[in-house]
Amino acid sequence: MEILIMETATVRQRLMEILGQGGEVTAIDLSQAVGIGEKEVYQHLPHIARSLATQGRGLRIDPSRCLKCGYVFEDRKRFTRPGRCPRCRATYIRRPFFSIR
Ligand SMILES: [Zn+2]
Repeated sequence: MEILIMETATVRQRLMEILGQGGEVTAIDLSQAVGIGEKEVYQHLPHIARSLATQGRGLRIDPSRCLKCGYVFEDRKRFTRPGRCPRCRATYIRRPFFSIR
C-alpha cells in the first residue's frame, strides 16, 4: 500500500517536471515520457492542477479542437479528448495541450 502511494507521488512529480519544462504537451507526450498509459495521465491531471493551484500556479489547457471544422471545446471542464464535434459531428478531434502557467 505504501509503495503504491509513493509510486503515485513519483509519477505526479515526473509529470510536473515535464510540464514545467515550458513546452505544450499532450497526454500522449506525457504518457510516453513517464511510461504510463494515456488514461492514467488523465487521472493524474486534476491532482496536478490542484497542487499547482496551491503554489499559486495553474495548469493551462489549450483546448481540444475539431480538425474538420475548427470548433474549439472552450468550455470543456474535463481533461480528456472529446469523442465527437457537436457542430459537424466529426470524430477527428485534436487532443488538448497542457502547460504550466
Ligand atoms: Zn467539427
